[in-house]
Amino acid sequence: MSDVLYRDFNSYLRQLYGCRVQKITVDAGLTCPNRDGSLSYGGCIYCNARGSGTGAALRSMSVSDQLDEAKSYLAKRYKAKKFLAYFQSFTNTYAPFQVLKGLYEEALSIPDIVGLTIGTRPDCVADEVLDYLHDIGDRYLVWLEYGLQSAHDRTLARINRGHKVEAFSNTVERTRRRNIPVCAHVILGLPGEGREDMLQTARFLASADVQAVKIHLLYVVRGTELEKWYRSGKYECLSRADYVSIVGDFLTLLPPHIIIQRVTGDPHPEELIAPHWALEKQKTLQKIHQYMQARGLFQGKALAP
Ligand code: SF4
Repeated sequence: MSDVLYRDFNSYLRQLYGCRVQKITVDAGLTCPNRDGSLSYGGCIYCNARGSGTGAALRSMSVSDQLDEAKSYLAKRYKAKKFLAYFQSFTNTYAPFQVLKGLYEEALSIPDIVGLTIGTRPDCVADEVLDYLHDIGDRYLVWLEYGLQSAHDRTLARINRGHKVEAFSNTVERTRRRNIPVCAHVILGLPGEGREDMLQTARFLASADVQAVKIHLLYVVRGTELEKWYRSGKYECLSRADYVSIVGDFLTLLPPHIIIQRVTGDPHPEELIAPHWALEKQKTLQKIHQYMQARGLFQGKALAP
């Protein structure tokens, strides 16, 4: 059903490899310039000490241990035959080049790992890293995932993001010059943004040279600045009905060639403060599909002549 409504990532990978390909989340034990004091100590207002990570590095698991362990589980659960190492936690291009190269090569040395997908900040990617990733691109699938979050500088300042929209545009341009595909992350429900602000972010992405988009819900995680805002009434979460309709309308503004890697987030239950409906991922997905089907919506519909 979903492949009719929007272009999904699993189908794209199946077309490339002819089998189920599963992403494996890797925590490489890196940090982030927006947390270690280079830019700020607090980080983005919604980020906690795990930096969206699995915490595996804190448990002293090497990159290869993490991949080996997940591979056997995912092969059984999804009958996956090939895998992508997804460097997700914190900023995965924030270390000396030789350190990064060692981590990426450790991942690629594991059998059936067919590529890398590297999550990072757009203001933190050296040309040397991009050149290396370009060079291995003829042997492996390589994606860069950049956190844009919002196309509004005033929002990025409000959430203490530590970079502007221009940093995203510049780095996308440097990445695409090397023919590396880019996935942009956006967050819906950021403080101070209404529906039209979020839809403007979709329009911005439609005109950017990005090959995929991940849409996340802003949820409140324990131990963050956002938790304080939420508890004091300064921040209110989106309702599920609003989220569903904004995602549906957002997708109509994205050209059909863009792969939609995610349409909602995946909070750790033990860390989530609000909204509780964020834990019901399948139900939210179903409601997004129902919303779109009931209105005859599909990805790119609003762009049709
Ligand atoms: S850029 Fe990512 S890791 Fe760094 S503070 Fe923001 S959310 Fe956390």
